[in-house]
Amino acid sequence: MKQFAVIGNPIEHSLSPDLHNYVYKMLSINALYKKKKVFHSELSNIMEALKTGEFNGVNVTIPHKENVIEYLDEINPRAKIIGAVNVIHKKGDKLFGNNTDWFGFVLALRKNGIEVFGKEVVVLGAGGTSKSILFALKQSGVKKILLLNRTLQKAERLQDEIVFPHSLEGSLQMIKNDSIIINTTPIGMQSKQCPIDLGLLNKNQTLIDVIYTPLQTALLKLGKKIGAKTLNGLDMFIYQGLTSMDLWFGEDISMQVNFPHLKTYLENKLCLQK
Ligand code: NAP
Repeated sequence: MKQFAVIGNPIEHSLSPDLHNYVYKMLSINALYKKKKVFHSELSNIMEALKTGEFNGVNVTIPHKENVIEYLDEINPRAKIIGAVNVIHKKGDKLFGNNTDWFGFVLALRKNGIEVFGKEVVVLGAGGTSKSILFALKQSGVKKILLLNRTLQKAERLQDEIVFPHSLEGSLQMIKNDSIIINTTPIGMQSKQCPIDLGLLNKNQTLIDVIYTPLQTALLKLGKKIGAKTLNGLDMFIYQGLTSMDLWFGEDISMQVNFPHLKTYLENKLCLQK
């Protein structure tokens, strides 16, 4: 039986085992996916376990997406540009790192009919996930990204010819009535808080949150109420997981999955977690 895991800390609430084990069961794949709490000092043991075949692949989550890079023999060029790895597998006797978060986000936009080509987009947050989102947006041909972050210097490190950094406090001036706004901060996960003033929301905006626990953050709840187009982080999460499977199994597992059934299954799991 093949063995997979998601490694991180904290890891208790990870939905990845539910996603992967559901697919293995549905497609009669002889594999098991676990979650493993891993401290920074234990990363080399995990890499050893991958090399010896104890694990056939791992997903990497907070706070190790950048930390793992030093242990890898090869990194996918796109993951290298992003500077974060969320999936590792063995290629021959080498460990190979990749990033499926960015592609998951692109597929989520496509599935939900959200077109960003040639447009200006507002991104809230300049952390690890933001880097994947910025890459996805650039790959999708956006014209301009207004990157708003609490710590301006962190946003400034991501500045380039498309990305324009600003302080989150400056959102009043940046947000327009028809903006596409993407929240990549964790604000809204643990509380009913919103990363921007709710008074800035408008029915002509598109509001995207990478958070999927809860499925409806305060940002999305109010956005939906006033008639804005909204999208939570669940589709991105599912697609990053399915793309990880495609890499591990070397075939298009994702094409064989009934996406609506999988999504409903995960939504029900999330409702039970409440
Ligand atoms: P991170 O690297 O810690 O970055 C967090 C960002 O949010 C930073 O820019 C930080 O600003 C900002 N922030 C945090 N707390 C804030 C506050 N109270 N007020 C203002 N700004 C604040 O985190 P991450 O790994 O990017 O994760 C962010 C979120 O993405 C999490 O909720 C995670 O669950 C979600 N996520 C979803 C998926 C998916 O598949 N849907 C995938 C990955 C992650 P500073 O720079 O000022 O600290």
